[in-house]
Parts: sequence; structure tokens; C-alpha cells
Amino acid sequence: MLKNVTEYHIPGSLDEALSLQDRESRSYFIAGGTGLALSNSNRPVELIDLGKLHLDELHLEDESGKLEIGATTKIQQLVELDELQDFAGGYLANNLEKVGSYPIRNAGTLGGSIVRPFPWSDVVPILLSLGAKIRYFDGTHGVRDLNNLYSDDFRETLRNSIVTGIEVDLPEVGETRGRFYKFSRSEFDIASLNLGCTLTALNGKITRARMAVGARPSFARRLTEVEDFLQGQSLENDLAEEATEMAADTAGVTGDRKMSKDYRLAQVRKMTEEALTGVIGDFLEQ
Ligand SMILES: Cc1cc2nc3c(=O)[nH]c(=O)nc-3n(C[C@H](O)[C@H](O)[C@H](O)COP(=O)(O)OP(=O)(O)OC[C@H]3O[C@@H](n4cnc5c(N)ncnc54)[C@H](O)[C@@H]3O)c2cc1C
Repeated sequence: MLKNVTEYHIPGSLDEALSLQDRESRSYFIAGGTGLALSNSNRPVELIDLGKLHLDELHLEDESGKLEIGATTKIQQLVELDELQDFAGGYLANNLEKVGSYPIRNAGTLGGSIVRPFPWSDVVPILLSLGAKIRYFDGTHGVRDLNNLYSDDFRETLRNSIVTGIEVDLPEVGETRGRFYKFSRSEFDIASLNLGCTLTALNGKITRARMAVGARPSFARRLTEVEDFLQGQSLENDLAEEATEMAADTAGVTGDRKMSKDYRLAQVRKMTEEALTGVIGDFLEQ
């Protein structure tokens, strides 16, 4: 817990919030506070509360499949919102329920989960596997593919930005379905490996594939080679076998004290196969 909070600001606009941020004086934005609460620092800090910036709105255009979610939206709200229960076959709402415990989801926000993400984050691979983009304000409004989250230039931009939300653009034609798996030692433990995959299909063919793996144990990454292989293929169960080996070859997993490299690789194969046979099965049953 931060032990020496000297000032607590509640700005009413993005410009005001940004003008209060000053790394030298160690001022931090605060949303749900669950990530900041992990700090044990005695150094003086100022907090800038993002709660009054109206960044908790959600817009979903059913026709185009475009979804926009404000950064201060609580993860639990996304689990429960009626509007999201059918979005990508419920992929977002169902799988965000695997994040931590109810109290964490009830306080933690979407923005707080992606600004300084943990390598074991579930939120990041779930969003990456939907092809999400991140919206931010650094004096002007910007949008970038979430896949750039770990690039040095974007990290630098985000150091001086407020994340205002995310957006997901599902393909306008075709249906999108997905699967997300989290391997952890207990229900509330953090992931030792996680993997998400969505497929969009039209007339028996895969028109878009998005796949991401996290807790490798390093930061999450998209498996673009597997995505490229899947796109354009017919919906058939034997696709899973080839994609599974490709996923293992490109996931870049290593070992740590939680899991050996070989065991992680075995899990990548298992999750990839189950995700693809599950999603393809959903489409073939329709
Ligand atoms: C006990 C525990 C268990 C957890 N388990 C899981 C899990 O199983 N899976 C998982 O994915 N995650 C898990 N988490 C992580 C959790 O999801 C994040 O801590 C949470 O979502 C962060 O959101 P927050 O609003 O509380 O962020 P805060 O604590 O308010 O902020 C976190 C950081 O982001 C910055 N920040 C916040 N919002 C913005 C913004 N809009 N723009 C710019 N900067 C911002 C803050 O300055 C701070 O540096 C767990 C966390 C805890 C404490």
C-alpha cells in the first residue's frame, strides 16, 4: 500500500488530469487502485483520480460489430453487462470472469489492467485475441493497436498519457466466436499460462483469426503466424493439428519456478487444440 500520499486530486477534464501529472513529484493516476495497492513505497506521492472523467461509457454498434469501452469501466461490470453477453458469442463477458476474484474485478478497471500490465495478465491476451485497439490522450486523442503495447515508443507515449478506453472492430460480415484458457494453481491464482483465440467465419471459411498467449512467463504476444495460417482455410477439425505445432514453435515460452518450459509447451499445444476444435465445432454445429 502507498504509505505517504500527500495530495489527492479529482480533476474534471482530461486536460486538467494531464496537467497534474508530473513524474518528478511522483504523481500517479489512480482508477480502481488494486494495482497501486501492491506498492509498498514510503516515498511521498500525489494521486490523480480518474473517476470523474466520464471514461466509463460503453458503445456497441450491433450492425458493424464495433465496440468501445471507457477505461474506468470495472472488469466486473463487463462480466455482467447485458449488451456484452452476445458480443463475439459472449467471449469478452465470459472470459473476463476468470480475472482474479470478485472484489478485484469489482474495483479493478479495464484501463488499469492495460497501462502497466502484468506479464500474467488475463485481460491483455483476451483483448489481443479480439484484435483490440487502445485509445489514449496525451494532449491530443490517439488510437493504436494493442499489439504495440510493449513497443518502446508506445510505452514512452503511455508514460505521459491517460488511457481513455479500448475499441474492438469485429468484421462486419461473418460470425465471431472464441475460447480463452487460463492455467493456474487455484481458482483465484494468477495465470501460469493463458491463451485466447477468436475466429470469424463466413460460408464455411475462416475470414479472420486472432490468437494470443500470455504468462509465457513474459508478456503476452499475438501468434500472427498461426493467425495467417488459419485465415482463408475451410472450417475443418484437422486444422487444429497443424496450428498446434505452429503455436508451440512461435509462442516463445520459457521455464520459471511455476512451470518448466516443456510443460508450458505442452499446455500451449493443449490450449491451442482445444480452442480451435471448440470454436470450429461451434461453427459446424450451427
Ligand atoms: C490480488 C490481485 C489478483 C489479481 N488477479 C488477476 C488475475 O487473475 N488476472 C488479471 O488479469 N489481473 C489480475 N490482477 C490485476 C488487476 O486486474 C489489476 O490490478 C487491475 O485491473 C488494475 O486496475 P485498477 O483500476 O485497479 O488500476 P490502478 O491500481 O488504479 O492503476 C494501475 C496503474 O495504471 C495506471 N492507470 C490506471 N488507469 C489508468 C488510465 N486510464 N490511464 C493511465 N494510467 C492509468 C495507474 O497510474 C497505475 O500505475 C490482480 C490484482 C490483484 C491485486
